[in-house]
Amino acid sequence: MKISISSFVAFALLLFLFTACNSSDQKEWAIALHGGAGTISQDLPDTIKQQYYDGLEEALRVGELVLRDGGSALDAVEQVVRNLEDNPLFNAGKGSVFTKDGTHELDAAIMDGSTLGAGALTGLTTVKNPITLARKVMTDSPHIFFSGVGAEEYANQTDVERVENDHFHTDQRYQQWQRAQEQALVDPAEAEKTSLYDWIEDLKFGTVGAVALDSDGKLAAATSTGGMTNKQFGRVGDVPIIGSGTFANHVAAISATGWGEQIMRNVSANTIANYMEFNDATLEQAIQFVLSQRLNPGDAGFIGVDRNGNLSMQMNTAGMFRASLDSDGNRVVMIWQDE
Ligand code: ASP
Repeated sequence: MKISISSFVAFALLLFLFTACNSSDQKEWAIALHGGAGTISQDLPDTIKQQYYDGLEEALRVGELVLRDGGSALDAVEQVVRNLEDNPLFNAGKGSVFTKDGTHELDAAIMDGSTLGAGALTGLTTVKNPITLARKVMTDSPHIFFSGVGAEEYANQTDVERVENDHFHTDQRYQQWQRAQEQALVDPAEAEKTSLYDWIEDLKFGTVGAVALDSDGKLAAATSTGGMTNKQFGRVGDVPIIGSGTFANHVAAISATGWGEQIMRNVSANTIANYMEFNDATLEQAIQFVLSQRLNPGDAGFIGVDRNGNLSMQMNTAGMFRASLDSDGNRVVMIWQDE
């Protein structure tokens, strides 16, 4: 009898430990994506709203299929961003905004949190899917960042799909650019000084990004954009600046969207990861810190995932096109702060 009681106690203890271990918050995999942050009118017609929700759902499904099958975080973020680049609703790949000269100049970056490998490009004009070229920069070149003519020359050495620059044209972005130019005519001097920001409320959304944790515990981040409407010659935003708009290490993977100059001067994505590491803070707290203590209201939005698969998507703008999913089945697809 005595033996059987102690056996029972030992069994109960083992059962408790087993349950405790398995109820830990570690997710097998997790993914988040964004399609830009900014002032997104709640009056968006239902049909357009639905197109955005459908686009976000479709991209999320692409990432889910990769991760559910045991695929890598890098594959997941690259494929999700490719899907969003091909969707004309978003300001990346097809659907990119117009520069001041009436062309399209695309930026992209990808980062592997497990190796700190990174690939980045700015000023691309003929590469259909910049994120795929960014991955090639990371894996096949001895460098991290190519710009303009050099970036196009690097593309010539690869098999990435090329297009004419007007492939990126959409009527919606064209009209947006026309409005920006008309406003510039009203006050050219002032417009010259502040050409990027005068219409910021209207222009701040569309960049795309994805972050993921895979079943090997690896983190990755990817971001792609056409930048900001009416941007001047050679303007580089936060997206391809490693640590600003895109960052991944062993702690977290982060992708940003919003006013590039503000995100950049605060080295925002890297600050989020460092804040977590140095202060033993959660991802949620770290993003909150950057949004409230480093940036101004209306500046930006971030998506992130940590090594336990905790996800966070926060912004200090009225809206951010976003979606996330983890291996426990927690699914979010949202546009505004509260829905
Ligand atoms: N951050 C991007 C840039 O400044 C724009 C955006 O996210 O909408 O190039």
